[in-house]
Amino acid sequence: MVSPRERFRPGERVLAVDAKDRRYLLTLTPGAAFHTHAGVLHHDDIIGALEGSTVTGSTGRSFLVFRPTLADVVLKMPRGAQVIYPKDLGAILVAADIGPNQRILEAGVGSGALSMALLRAGATVIAYEIRADFAARARANVHAFLGPDTPYDVEIRDVTEGITERDLDRVLLDLPEPWRVVEHAATALRPGGILLAYLPTINQTAQLRECLDAAPFRLTETVEILRRTWHIDRRSIRPDHRMVAHTGFLTTARRVPVPGETTPVSDSPKNP
Ligand code: SAH
Repeated sequence: MVSPRERFRPGERVLAVDAKDRRYLLTLTPGAAFHTHAGVLHHDDIIGALEGSTVTGSTGRSFLVFRPTLADVVLKMPRGAQVIYPKDLGAILVAADIGPNQRILEAGVGSGALSMALLRAGATVIAYEIRADFAARARANVHAFLGPDTPYDVEIRDVTEGITERDLDRVLLDLPEPWRVVEHAATALRPGGILLAYLPTINQTAQLRECLDAAPFRLTETVEILRRTWHIDRRSIRPDHRMVAHTGFLTTARRVPVPGETTPVSDSPKNP
């Protein structure tokens, strides 16, 4: 991977922002030209520049060039399914307490936006996706953002038919009927592990909550994230007129032991 302090090199992705805050994502290719609403940008003018430089396009208008953030990439990358918005990705990382070296089952993966956030937080992701075309898209998006050597694969399978892994730290679900996965998640998660489901409607959320109540899960919680941007000008400071008012509800729950559940040998005390 390119060091973040280096100048832009061919093959890198660049976020170009025009004076009207329109954003473009391009991959630097020597000799290539990129057509925007504000004129043509020549890749050769960006190659060799420092991040944050101003580059002038064909019509004399300027563009700021940066390496894209995870949020920039998620909003611009090729999508098959609806991606999880950046505001929700951030909340998921904390609500499901994602961290390095965790083993996480994620289903379905869609375009791979959540996978990218989990991998970047240092987790190991086991991914199930029912559609082969989405699985291919997710792999391509993840490897384009995190590098081709990133350990990440997507299994083409239906998570409602079961989860093979055991002793998982987290199970994250973004699919229409997560209640059909609750039993499998209870078997696959270790005690204390966290299940998180992302759902667009409250009807679905209520159905999930009923299933969680009947399963070995406690500390169940449902939240939504409202993010409102502000217009800040010297004489006019107010919320922006438009916002993304609704995306989805996040529900989390923690797995509790079931009667007779034994502690894995590897977890037994070291100094008996
Ligand atoms: N979280 C993803 C978007 C997921 S969209 C992102 O951030 O990009 C929902 C995905 O779930 C779709 O790709 C769909 O094909 C998949 N899916 C639906 N039912 C499934 C099932 N039973 N097993 C596995 N994947 C499923």
